[in-house]
Amino acid sequence: LVRLEGVNKHFGPLHVLQDIDLSVGRGEVVVVIGPSGSGKSTLCRVLNRLETIDSGSIVFDGRELPAEGRALARLRSEVGMVFQSFNLFAHKTILENVTLGPTRVRKVPRQQAEQRGMELLERVGIASQAGKYPAQLSGGQQQRTAIARALAMDPKMILFDEPTSALDPEMVQEVLDVMVGLAKDGMTMMVVTHEMGFARRAANRIVFMADGQIVEEGSPSEFFTQPSTERARDFLSKIL
Ligand code: ATP
Ligand code: MG
Repeated sequence: LVRLEGVNKHFGPLHVLQDIDLSVGRGEVVVVIGPSGSGKSTLCRVLNRLETIDSGSIVFDGRELPAEGRALARLRSEVGMVFQSFNLFAHKTILENVTLGPTRVRKVPRQQAEQRGMELLERVGIASQAGKYPAQLSGGQQQRTAIARALAMDPKMILFDEPTSALDPEMVQEVLDVMVGLAKDGMTMMVVTHEMGFARRAANRIVFMADGQIVEEGSPSEFFTQPSTERARDFLSKIL
């Protein structure tokens, strides 16, 4: 579905992405791990063109990533993104947060968008909260709203950047459970996370990044039991 080849990105003197080659197939779940500052968020951001790249190519669904205009708007709706901070609209209800994209961007009739929105809220387990405002919900419920909002655009892929790191510990699992459900339903996902339990349960592949490079990638069973690089062994010894 998406293929990065020789992707480079600098922030001034900092070479944040160095010759990144990576493909994610349809229905695949790729978990990206690595130390702070290794370029994981930047990798997510270049995939829906929140950041430009300096060289290399990114092909999504058979086309080079568009730079602007309608094609870029379409890309953004096809590649959903869920962030650490939920980024919900504070003055809109939970249901409105979920229907806003479809009604404004897709011109879906309101009633139809609301019906679908309620189905999605049901799917993430918060239909009963539909009329409330984000501040009235727990962190876990807000993040599940953010997932429903991403799903409302019928994305071909969803990028998750540390979706549970801002949550109180008791709310982490409810969000991970929703993500495992999506993975089982065949959603293509790239997930930056430190939740190794999730990685073992849901990932088809682990990508380990350090200093802007993909140092190692493999299946969870390979990676967790016998990482082949010292850097990965060192990293795992710190987080496991
Ligand atoms: P973390 O685990 O802390 O989230 P990360 O792996 O997601 O880290 P990135 O956020 O991709 O890392 O950042 C990679 C490097 O690029 C860091 O050194 C960061 O300070 C730098 N960086 C990120 N965004 C910018 C920016 N907009 N301008 C300048 N430097 C940036
Ligand atoms: Mg990050």
